Amino acid sequence: MSNRLKPLLIIFGFSAALMVFAAGCGRMPLVKHREHLMGTTVDVTVHHPDARAAEDAVSLAFREAARLEGLLSAYIDESDVSGINKNAGVQPAVVAPETFYVIRQAVKYSKLSGGAFDVTVMPLVELWSGAALRGELPSEREILEAGALVDFREIILDEKNSSVMLGKKGMRLDLGAIAKGFVVDKMAEILRDAGMRGALVNAGGDIYAHGTSYGGEGWRIGLRHPRSPERVVDVFSVTNRAVATSGDYERFFIYEGVRYSHIIDPRSGMPARGVISATVLAGTCLEADALATILFVTGYADGRPIIEELGAEAVLFNEDWEYGDEKRI
Ligand code: AMP
Ligand code: MG
Repeated sequence: MSNRLKPLLIIFGFSAALMVFAAGCGRMPLVKHREHLMGTTVDVTVHHPDARAAEDAVSLAFREAARLEGLLSAYIDESDVSGINKNAGVQPAVVAPETFYVIRQAVKYSKLSGGAFDVTVMPLVELWSGAALRGELPSEREILEAGALVDFREIILDEKNSSVMLGKKGMRLDLGAIAKGFVVDKMAEILRDAGMRGALVNAGGDIYAHGTSYGGEGWRIGLRHPRSPERVVDVFSVTNRAVATSGDYERFFIYEGVRYSHIIDPRSGMPARGVISATVLAGTCLEADALATILFVTGYADGRPIIEELGAEAVLFNEDWEYGDEKRI
């Protein structure tokens, strides 16, 4: 169940072959760089008159992304999140301000989604991915047991000491639905602060578009139909905004003809059903990332008020909707 590059978003205007490209015709140099981070491919494209300054800014952004991954990943033993998880039900763990910030944001989205989003979902995520590996479904009892350890209200945040504690032993945080967006924002911030004319950061479909693309306009991002990728459903021109998608084509397993996604509805303990893809445009990638996961769990009717309240935009596809029936918010 590896996280592969989301095929849903296409970015127009340049080929996939990257590297430094100093185009003729008076165009500005284009610096492109790709690395594997956070379980996905991260692409950065910068256009700026000074190619050397652009290269320096890009490597700074990647270094920062690696540092943040080292704090936020539940799969890195020395990370802040692992420290919190190991001390669940025992004592608070002191964390970096960035970690504290992301967890506080995660709690905010958990609250406003009524628990459809829950960063303590890890016990259920592991139960379902373990079952997928064995090619079977978890038992009802296992789902209840894991579900009893999932509750964002049991996260104790102590701002003064920058510490976080999980109330019960066995609880575990998983920032997988929000951390990538945060890291994308931080990378874009570094590129912007370095004075880059335009920059696009794309972490496997979690995107921030800063400034203008090399054509002098917004970055053009196309949205493909999740089941018919040859169909481009929409093209957004994005400037100083973020886009993120949650989809069931990304990581899933099929059991007796039913597709089970990697996104769990914490309220039922079952993989979310119905939505096949949710794309959100928002001011920050952290918000777009969180909202895309929320919409994936809630579906259109319950998710719409949340998207509207935050002034974001979304495109949603359901498994039983025909082509052209997708909903826009
Ligand atoms: P995303 O691709 O941003 O929707 O994030 C999906 C990842 O977030 C999963 O792989 C899990 O690690 C985690 N996750 C799954 N379900 C939830 C949920 N309901 N709330 C928060 N995180 C979740
Ligand atoms: Mg997300």
